[in-house]
Amino acid sequence: MDKKIIVIGSSNTDLVVQSERLPKAGETIMGTDFFQNQGGKGANQAVAAARLGGEVVFVANVGTDDFGSNAILSYKKEGINVDFIHQVDVPTGMAMINVDAKAENCIVVVPGANNTLSEKNIDAVAEGFHEKAIVLLQLEVPIKTVEYAVAKAKQKGALVILNPAPVKAISDETLRMLDIITPNETELELLSGIKVKDQQTMLKAIDILHNKGVKTVIVTLGAKGCFVSNTTLKQQFSAPNVNAIDTTAAGDVFNGALTVLLSEGMTLETSINFALNAASNSVTKKGAQASIPRLSEL
Ligand code: ATP
Repeated sequence: MDKKIIVIGSSNTDLVVQSERLPKAGETIMGTDFFQNQGGKGANQAVAAARLGGEVVFVANVGTDDFGSNAILSYKKEGINVDFIHQVDVPTGMAMINVDAKAENCIVVVPGANNTLSEKNIDAVAEGFHEKAIVLLQLEVPIKTVEYAVAKAKQKGALVILNPAPVKAISDETLRMLDIITPNETELELLSGIKVKDQQTMLKAIDILHNKGVKTVIVTLGAKGCFVSNTTLKQQFSAPNVNAIDTTAAGDVFNGALTVLLSEGMTLETSINFALNAASNSVTKKGAQASIPRLSEL
């Protein structure tokens, strides 16, 4: 296997129920609509990379239920290599999302099969890690598995990108091996222990990650774009000015897009500008995977 982009992470099915208002505890109300979507940060980033022209392998666990089988079919349709998606005897990761007429929501996420992603899954794909590969990870699967995958990928000389979301503690040993980390401002605060109030405190927080060995830190800043820091670059990049209507999965599109251009050998600056364009395009449309642009739209 000589694949260029290996995304390791979560796959969820989102069950979205719409109603005029949210139910109270113990209450049953009639809803107005129901949708079923593929989600999970790993899946969103794999789909983003595939739609934007990347050659993508997605490593994930889903259930043997219909949700899992449908998820695999949908990733196949996106042109993603699904050889390393396993069906396990645990329900597919699930997000139950209640949305009211004012777009207020309440969500319950059950990780299910995502929690079973293990070192075995990583060993199965690890022969595909090589010097020209990029391994892209997030934190919706067990941290032990993420840390094992980072170490394996580095051993084989792959470039490793971690989107630390949802944020949790990462060992110094793992941080030291990361080529690129892509926190938003809140994640940067939690990883560095520094309250980010302005540019100066952001730089201080970024330096803490550099001091732990992370080579490049990219802080995504929503409508303000992102800040990039490494030994040769310390620069804010602006996002295109767009009419944002739904920012769900913007960070996932940013990470997928960045990975595609880096895998094509583009410079970090070019890759960042492409990622900003793609992510900003996605916020002009509703939904998570539904809003992920294709190359032809950019
Ligand atoms: P999410 O959790 O919603 O997926 P995030 O918190 O991980 O997002 P953000 O920093 O909010 O990440 O956004 C990622 C990228 O999306 C930004 O760097 C930018 O390119 C784009 N983006 C987000 N919000 C806007 C906006 N209002 N206008 C233009 N671009 C945006």
